Amino acid sequence: MIIRKLFTFENAHIVRDCSTRRCSENIHGHSYTIEVLLESNYLDHGQMVYDFSLMKRQIKTLIDSFDHAITLWSGDEQGYIDAMKAHSNRWIEMPVSPSAEQFARVIFLMVERVLACTQMVNGEREVTVQSIIAHETQTGYAQAFQADAHSPLMGSIDLEKIIFSSQVQAEWEDPQLWEKLLSHTPTRNPTKV
Ligand SMILES: [Zn+2]
Repeated sequence: MIIRKLFTFENAHIVRDCSTRRCSENIHGHSYTIEVLLESNYLDHGQMVYDFSLMKRQIKTLIDSFDHAITLWSGDEQGYIDAMKAHSNRWIEMPVSPSAEQFARVIFLMVERVLACTQMVNGEREVTVQSIIAHETQTGYAQAFQADAHSPLMGSIDLEKIIFSSQVQAEWEDPQLWEKLLSHTPTRNPTKV
């Protein structure tokens, strides 16, 4: 069974090297809708796949980090990156360009990491990320499945290289959240065998 939770945020970016100059040469924003789809063949003690209220915690915190922020690609020109950081306090730097496709892949890996680090306490079993859908506009979205998120053909994404600005982290309930998620050794395989 698949369950889905929607999250939204407003975010700014430039997508370098895309085919339209509006996109590749201008800072602009989108109202994103992110669909987090989780899957399991089992139900927990509450006869749910995964309690939606659990998703409101770390998953919501990470996705909400992008709200009213600018997302920077570490491969962009250093002058641009430095200027954005100098004039905006909410930014996220990623090792990949902030296209809808990469947002879907990055958020897949983030949610997968949260699940891997979450102690299941209500009988949840083998809950996995089925996919992440990143809607960049009302008419276009990208959907990443496990194979996409981990695809070497699309380029591996190293979570360690994702940096949240200090203002973003300061707003988290636990400012060490990202550090803890990165250092945590997954206690179980988050993907289906
Ligand atoms: Zn755009």
